[in-house]
Amino acid sequence: MKTGRTKTAASSQGRWANSGNGIELYPVDIDHPVFTAVVSPDTAFWALVDKSELAGVFSDDHSLYREYRQKAEVFEHEMNALRSGQKPSAVYVNPTERCNLDCSYCYIPGEMRKDGRDMPKEELIDALGRMKRYFRRNTPEDYKPEVIFHGSEPMLNREAVFTAIDYFSDDFRFGVQTNGTLLDRESADFLMSRGVGIGFSLDAPEALLASRTRKTWSGDGVYDSVVQAIELVKGYDRYSVICTVTKENMAALVDMVDFFHAMEVPVCMLNPVRCTRVGGRMMKPDDAAMANYYLKALDRTHELYRETGRKLVVANFANILLAVLAPTARKLMCDISPCGGGRCFVALSAKGDLFPCSEFVGLPEFNGGSVFHEDIDDVLEKAPFRKVTGRMVEDIEPCNRCAIRHFCGSPCPAEAYSLHGTMQSPGAFCELYEEQVRYAMRLIADGKADDFLEDNWENSVETVFDLALSSPA
Ligand code: SF4
Ligand code: SF4
Repeated sequence: MKTGRTKTAASSQGRWANSGNGIELYPVDIDHPVFTAVVSPDTAFWALVDKSELAGVFSDDHSLYREYRQKAEVFEHEMNALRSGQKPSAVYVNPTERCNLDCSYCYIPGEMRKDGRDMPKEELIDALGRMKRYFRRNTPEDYKPEVIFHGSEPMLNREAVFTAIDYFSDDFRFGVQTNGTLLDRESADFLMSRGVGIGFSLDAPEALLASRTRKTWSGDGVYDSVVQAIELVKGYDRYSVICTVTKENMAALVDMVDFFHAMEVPVCMLNPVRCTRVGGRMMKPDDAAMANYYLKALDRTHELYRETGRKLVVANFANILLAVLAPTARKLMCDISPCGGGRCFVALSAKGDLFPCSEFVGLPEFNGGSVFHEDIDDVLEKAPFRKVTGRMVEDIEPCNRCAIRHFCGSPCPAEAYSLHGTMQSPGAFCELYEEQVRYAMRLIADGKADDFLEDNWENSVETVFDLALSSPA
């Protein structure tokens, strides 16, 4: 796998930053009164440097320069291992093609959601048995792979899903991503008693706005039933709520955060709408405007934490913050290149076909083949998967000269492919990533990063480079 720069045999001794064989170290303004970041794009190494010291950092007698120069190759090796040394350890399963809702931005084609098939219970057990055998060969013995049932609406095939959860209780950790409208007391109790992660979707803190994007086939909003479903799991520590950010609701993100916090939601995601299908493209918010509202929402989560002592973690931002703090500790989903699709997880359609990610389920050219008829190792090597797992941020303009490219990864290949006809192009929201990384570094500079992460996140992280000189105390 090709990663990073191609090194050639130039005669340069590599003494000077940013020329010849020298290390790459670029200043990145983070809009902080005291600090500027210096970032090495290939390794994702960074340091916060007092602005008054900045010029000195690029001299070969500066301690940060010297120490980083010594360690750059090791860091590059670690980054390459992170990007290439993964095998899937999770599967996103669509147990049905059908959905009782017709959300404006859904990535699954409407005809599939309206008239599609349910995967019969026996087929689901068979498919998960095959995934289990694959995972057993490719993950450590003490590791429990993850199965996430998600959309269309998995609760439309509840009996098969619940049977599989009990059947494989010793083999997998489970999650269910649901629109919430079909979750009753009995279902909620079943899922909580088995420790299943539950994800809901809600796009606004009030009914009228929520119904602009999430609604039934006859156009009715579902806000009340979703809020009731979330109430059913109050106090459970394994649930979260996704708010898909569109041009309709971006101005309400601060209110959304207030609402989630008041409902005692522990974790939410404020995910920009994917523009893979035309419905998503119609709902696309302006990148810069959304970034502005998004950062205000993050500010608000912090105010609420300071006021109440209770966190509302915005998981998609927390992942970016972790990418900055400890690249190897992050969950490898969208914010790295190659992304997690086909590399850290696969998607299984209700017909039993394997795709690199559910985002590709509506794109038949990315169907890798049937889990029932093909060897999963072979499927992972086929062109539909290789195209996604081989998408490198270094091959994309302007990402190839972006200092924060390993904190962002230029998601999403499905979106880029649909928007531009090629995956070697950026996704729809560059500025949102720029602003998130700058915000993350400001938090670190001000000693506030922990307030935005789940408690005890640092237990799984090792400090590899801790140069107090140029970093804030
Ligand atoms: S970037 Fe797109 S294809 Fe990759 S994991 Fe995220 S949603 Fe899936
Ligand atoms: S999408 Fe933007 S922020 Fe992300 S790597 Fe590309 S240029 Fe950088």
